[in-house]
Amino acid sequence: MKAAPFAYVRAAGVGEAVAALSEGALVLAGGQSLVPLLNMRLVRPHTVMDVNRLDLAHLHRSGADLVLGALTRHRQVETSPLVRRDVPLLAAAMSHVGYVAVRNRGTTGGSIAHADPAAELPAVCVALDASFTVQGARGRREIPAGEFFLGPHRTALAADELLVETRVPVPPVGSGHGVAELSRRANDLAVVAVVACVAVSEGTVTYARIAVAGAAPTPIRATVAESVLLGRTPSADVIASAADAVADATDPSDDLRAPAAYRREMAVVLTRRALRQAVTS
Ligand SMILES: Cc1cc2nc3c(=O)[nH]c(=O)nc-3n(C[C@H](O)[C@H](O)[C@H](O)COP(=O)(O)OP(=O)(O)OC[C@H]3O[C@@H](n4cnc5c(N)ncnc54)[C@H](O)[C@@H]3O)c2cc1C
Repeated sequence: MKAAPFAYVRAAGVGEAVAALSEGALVLAGGQSLVPLLNMRLVRPHTVMDVNRLDLAHLHRSGADLVLGALTRHRQVETSPLVRRDVPLLAAAMSHVGYVAVRNRGTTGGSIAHADPAAELPAVCVALDASFTVQGARGRREIPAGEFFLGPHRTALAADELLVETRVPVPPVGSGHGVAELSRRANDLAVVAVVACVAVSEGTVTYARIAVAGAAPTPIRATVAESVLLGRTPSADVIASAADAVADATDPSDDLRAPAAYRREMAVVLTRRALRQAVTS
């Protein structure tokens, strides 16, 4: 199928982009999710606004945060020496997004705004307590990742707001990380994915972050599992107990790709794997 007819505009600045959004335009960033939706006529905007010329491809450290402009490409994040040094979980998670051609085009802003419950980047943002800067006609505001994802492809972004950048708090130096996911084929969107970041000092866990994608309508933070780890030696038994605690945090539903019970079970199995990676990396 081909897309229904639409007008194409190219925004030259954030103000101009916000003005077009107020008039009902839809943002085109990397196009990796939007173009298929247009071609299948699942969306029929009167105007598609290309934001690729906006100055939003920055990636830098600011105080305790890593800052990703909305137009940073997945591949840029995956291969950045700064990201690999400061938030290696983020670089590792990006390497699971589609394949290189998709990662060369797809943007962090697009992935976050698209809010696929099985996507890796939103899960990392939830795990690490990231926040999103969005700009609308009434100015800028910050939205914590924990309040941003409202349901499958539903976010706290208003229709006239542009996601401008993401701030990711840098985990403690020396933290280990793990990404474990189940996909039906290599490079497919995950059925279930788990991301974890753990710091261990003098044999005990001092920092633990776990988030699960694909096991609820939004990415979920597994806070009970984190508390099972904190202050304890990350032995196989402790890791297994933490992973078991993830099951209650999930809220999966049956769909064509997997039954709910399977997703829940995989969340437990993959948490175990991600935690093992995190405490040995
Ligand atoms: C073959 C294939 C495999 C894939 N596999 C994975 C995978 O394993 N994991 C994964 O997470 N994703 C996967 N994706 C999706 C990919 O990551 C997309 O890049 C991402 O979901 C959307 O980013 P984009 O820049 O392409 O956004 P677009 O497709 O341009 O836009 C997506 C949506 O976000 C909105 N949007 C974009 N930018 C902004 C902004 N700055 N502010 C407000 N709204 C905005 C658009 O209006 C649109 O509704 C895959 C895609 C393909 C084609």
